Amino acid sequence: MTPTQDQREWPDDLKRCVDFHGHICPGLIYGYRVALEAIGLMDLRRAVDEEIVAICENDSCAIDALQVLLGTAAGKGNLIIKDYGKNAYTIISRTKRRSFRFSRTERYAYQGSDQQIYDQLSGALDKGIASKEDQTALKQMKINDLLSRPFRDIFTTKEMNYDDPLFAPLQPSEPCALCGEMTMTGKMEVLPDGRRVCIPCRLNLIAV
Ligand SMILES: [Zn+2]
Ligand SMILES: [Zn+2]
Repeated sequence: MTPTQDQREWPDDLKRCVDFHGHICPGLIYGYRVALEAIGLMDLRRAVDEEIVAICENDSCAIDALQVLLGTAAGKGNLIIKDYGKNAYTIISRTKRRSFRFSRTERYAYQGSDQQIYDQLSGALDKGIASKEDQTALKQMKINDLLSRPFRDIFTTKEMNYDDPLFAPLQPSEPCALCGEMTMTGKMEVLPDGRRVCIPCRLNLIAV
């Protein structure tokens, strides 16, 4: 049988990530490992304000672990998503004036002791004949593998030049000339006749 890690064995910080994210998945584990590594390297405490900034090069499950553990949250402006479709994250500490980029450079390859079972299950998945139980078991094996591997097996780590990241912009709002809704000025677009409108209104104008 495939070994499954009981969720009671998960560390508390991982449980908090799963609570927030809704489920456990390999993507969340990537973010969890990156967050812990960044905390260790820069001796970080969870950001109350914008002491830490995360630049994520994808919009996957991993980001939620960063939000929980680093306090780099979508609503605070210190979570920057550059959706390049890469499993890569730059974590910046304003207080430590340091910055690290973590990047996954290799295709995932299972390294557990029960390689044969893994190969069987993933072979079944490739052929489209994996049962729901097979899929769950496969996911669980991946998760356990990603949790137990040395970090350097999963991500390369590179210290980057510290470059003071911009703080989240605070901007005044003004009403859109078409719908009248208050809109941040920096997000408004100017029509040829000079009226300033919100993005949805401008997109509507193009569509008609
Ligand atoms: Zn997920
Ligand atoms: Zn509008």
